[in-house]
Order: sequence, then structure tokens, then C-alpha cells
Amino acid sequence: MSSDVNYEYRTGIGTDIHRLVTGRDLVLGGVKIPYKEGLLAHSDGDVVLHAVIDALLGAAGMGDIGGLFPDTDDKWKNADSRELLQIVKGRLEEKKWEVVNVDLIVHAEQPKLGEVKGQIKRCVSSILGIDFLNVNVKAKTNEGLGDVGLGKAMASTVTVLLRRRIKRTL
Ligand code: MG
Repeated sequence: MSSDVNYEYRTGIGTDIHRLVTGRDLVLGGVKIPYKEGLLAHSDGDVVLHAVIDALLGAAGMGDIGGLFPDTDDKWKNADSRELLQIVKGRLEEKKWEVVNVDLIVHAEQPKLGEVKGQIKRCVSSILGIDFLNVNVKAKTNEGLGDVGLGKAMASTVTVLLRRRIKRTL
């Protein structure tokens, strides 16, 4: 079978970590979660969306989140990370990249995130314009180890796959 279209594929990985402090909202994957503390950052501190953004930028060969949204720029102070992800989605579209899937991990000792996973999937998939089933969310504790395990921080690890059409040259 021959076809005149083919795809090139790129994988990307992203990680992020932020310190937990009192007096801030906890936002993970674009979802505000009732909790006693929130994540300290220049933006809203959404470690999950920051890791998603870094994975996407990495896959597309477009650098990293700090390059696109420097924390020295007041424009991004308390930024809604959903808007940052929307901007990155636009950059990918300019280069004809489509997101195939996202697999993400939230590393948090507390709270239990079982009921939030579906909301994170909905938020990420709707911003990226992909099927709900192509975003997977896992939540893991750190077994009491390290700053995440001690409840001082939350972190995220994300992989993505991108594809774009290329003309077959055969
Ligand atoms: Mg961050």
C-alpha cells in the first residue's frame, strides 16, 4: 500500500516542581482544588500545565517555558497557565504540529486527587483540542520521601507525542 502522505513524530518530556505555601490557591492541570496551601510561583504555580508546556515545546524543538514566558517579565505575573498553554498550542499550530497524546503524572503527598483526574483530563484535552481519551492522568505520592513526600512541594512529570504531515518522497 502506498500513500502520498506520511507523518513525522516527535516525543517530548517536561517536569516541574513548586514549593507549597499558605495563602495561595492550589491549581493543578487548570483545576482549582480545595486545599490548605497552594504553589508558590510567579504565575499561578500550576506545575502540571508547566510540565505539559515544557513537554510540548521540547517535542517541537521550541526551547522551554522560561524562554517563552520569562519570570522576569511582569506580563506573566500571576498568569493563568491555561492561557500560557493556549499560546503554546498556537505556536505548535503555526508549525503544523498536532498533539497525539499526553501522559502526565502529578507527584503530591496530599490531597487525594482521584476525583480531580477527570477534570484535569477535560481541561488539558479541551485546550489542546484533542480527545479526552488521549490525555492520561496519574497521581502518585512520594512515599514520604524528599520535599514532595514531606508535603513541602508538588511536582509533575509529563510526556507528549506530536505528529505532523509530511509529503512522502518516494
Ligand atoms: Mg513552574
